Amino acid sequence: MTDQAPPAPDVDTSAIREIAKGVFVILDHRVPLVPNIGIVLGEKAALVIDTGMGNANGKAVLEAARKLAGDRELILTLTHFHPEHGYGADAFKGVARIIYNKAQADEFADKGQPYLDMFKGMGPAVAAALADTTLVPADELYDGTEHTIDLGGRTAVLRTWGKAHTRGDQIVYIPDCKALFTGDLAEEKTFPIFPWFPPHDMDIDGANWLKVLDDCLALTPAAVVPGHGEIGDAAILSDVRDYIADIAARVKQAAAGGKSEDDMLAELGPAIKAAHPDWHFPEWIDFAIRYFHARQG
Ligand SMILES: [Zn+2]
Repeated sequence: MTDQAPPAPDVDTSAIREIAKGVFVILDHRVPLVPNIGIVLGEKAALVIDTGMGNANGKAVLEAARKLAGDRELILTLTHFHPEHGYGADAFKGVARIIYNKAQADEFADKGQPYLDMFKGMGPAVAAALADTTLVPADELYDGTEHTIDLGGRTAVLRTWGKAHTRGDQIVYIPDCKALFTGDLAEEKTFPIFPWFPPHDMDIDGANWLKVLDDCLALTPAAVVPGHGEIGDAAILSDVRDYIADIAARVKQAAAGGKSEDDMLAELGPAIKAAHPDWHFPEWIDFAIRYFHARQG
């Protein structure tokens, strides 16, 4: 990750933008380890998408959601189990109905604690944010690939393709306004995060990730809310798809030419970085190269 310890991963709930009627996003301001957070209002329920990291952020997001939702029922779902997206869920326990997909819940059960420990090692500000974190299970799980929530007058579609950026990523799609929340399946102007930490975490599927992005493009979303970065349109999806396809092809070609992993890191890394001069977090390029290298042969 980065050489320097990241700053406090504070969610700024004053930075709320309404991107479609009743569809709000708490903007990440590109603060490391802060995600874009969604609040979607129906007539009878409000859906919160991700919480930020740690109990204090979770409480702040809950308060912002309650302010917008009034006395509507609150429902929480997470795009995936990673700490900066979901480790504020404890603030919602007993207050909101928490819904995950089965693969996501299983992955959280397996990796929730190790990831909490790993993130606490990422510097004092992150450790402080996570100090009071309790890992809480979902209230409801759905099996299969899709689950529709009736919010009253509008629906929210949760959809998973299984393993991609993690084992149980899901998108949230609001059909009436074509707003799409992608979690880390798509980040804007950011090198996609390949959490390739063998032997501890190897739950990535690059080929399936491409399919996810193609299927999301087929939705022709009007607004794409990435896991991190600025809200935009479908170009966010195609940029990530093109990046993953490009790095897969480059590694395949290098492997066919007999290059070692070290050669690939030395030669491909700088070329890939140079192809995206305005993208953030280039340290993730090497993780992607190592992942695709491990998938050769
Ligand atoms: Zn993630």
